[in-house]
Amino acid sequence: MRISIKGLGISGLYLYERLRQGGFNVSGFDIKRPDFYIPCAYATNLYLMKPFMSKIGVDFEEYVFHHAESIILAGERGMSVEFRSAGLVTFDRNRLQMDLMGGIAMKNDQDADIVVDATGISRYYLGRDPGDITYYTKEYLTDRSSHDDFYFLFLERGNGYLWEFPLDKGHFHVGVGSRVYDDLHRIDQQERIKITGRKIRMKPLFESARRGNIVGIGEAVGTVSPLTGEGILPSIESAELLYDLISHGSDPDEVIRSYTKKLRDRFSSYYQLSEFVERVQAGNLLRPSNLRYAGPISREMKHFGIDFSLVKAVRSLI
Ligand SMILES: Cc1cc2nc3c(=O)[nH]c(=O)nc-3n(C[C@H](O)[C@H](O)[C@H](O)COP(=O)(O)OP(=O)(O)OC[C@H]3O[C@@H](n4cnc5c(N)ncnc54)[C@H](O)[C@@H]3O)c2cc1C
Repeated sequence: MRISIKGLGISGLYLYERLRQGGFNVSGFDIKRPDFYIPCAYATNLYLMKPFMSKIGVDFEEYVFHHAESIILAGERGMSVEFRSAGLVTFDRNRLQMDLMGGIAMKNDQDADIVVDATGISRYYLGRDPGDITYYTKEYLTDRSSHDDFYFLFLERGNGYLWEFPLDKGHFHVGVGSRVYDDLHRIDQQERIKITGRKIRMKPLFESARRGNIVGIGEAVGTVSPLTGEGILPSIESAELLYDLISHGSDPDEVIRSYTKKLRDRFSSYYQLSEFVERVQAGNLLRPSNLRYAGPISREMKHFGIDFSLVKAVRSLI
């Protein structure tokens, strides 16, 4: 099987390395400048990321900037809850991706058996989906922050959140992501060294994860948590699902069919979490019927690396 990966962001690079090291006929192509500063807060769960990176021969700890000790989740009406870390770190995503990119001779293969759309927000090869939901984001690299550890400020009506995440050498990412464009002004008063941002996909698009021999991984198909916006690990996880099927299959059509099914199964909680966010946005946060989302919410926060307790969070809300 010949595989062509379009988009060498975090999921495309991971899949490329898995396939290359597994002896497959794989090529990769990306359009960005080598020194492009990746718009992302660079937070992930060390304990989950490490095993994936070691599969491609990367010692992830070498890239870690900051280990969380205390994580504050706050709301606009003054409530605030502190949680411990369950592996939350920031890491040098630019250096990691540059190192992985180093050895790749870029090739835009037109005749592959499987074309992987890993172009993230653009879905350049799969095409637009009419049901798509994206939020606006803006982020500053700065050396000032009002908190010295991880801080999340959730916006009214579940519109999104503002973050302050420590990096290394006294630097921070301070950013905001919201479905409301005007919320981007909320960080304007902050001093900055660099500014970045792009839209982020907040809806699973697993039903449109394939078009002919084109199949999507990562944010192109919506592997971004509708609750936290976490997209790094979920995108790598989707790449691993596809790798596993390619390495055990010989028929491209069958590989793609099994992959789209596995994608829906693995990320089925994203449908529930999307539903929960919609309810919050409709003003229905404290409804007893929301109890059914308790499990997926707690699991999602822990996946991101936060030792979350719903009871503690609800107590502070009330
Ligand atoms: C402001 C912000 C903060 C975030 N913070 C976090 C965070 O702290 N933790 C977290 O887990 N997630 C975070 N996310 C989400 C996360 O960054 C993404 O979901 C994740 O990078 C998706 O990985 P990917 O490989 O699918 O796409 P990307 O990493 O976005 O890669 C897509 C690649 O495709 C390339 N490309 C685009 N168009 C084409 C084309 N036509 N042809 C070839 N190549 C193309 C791009 O150059 C890029 O390299 C954040 C997102 C934003 C916007």
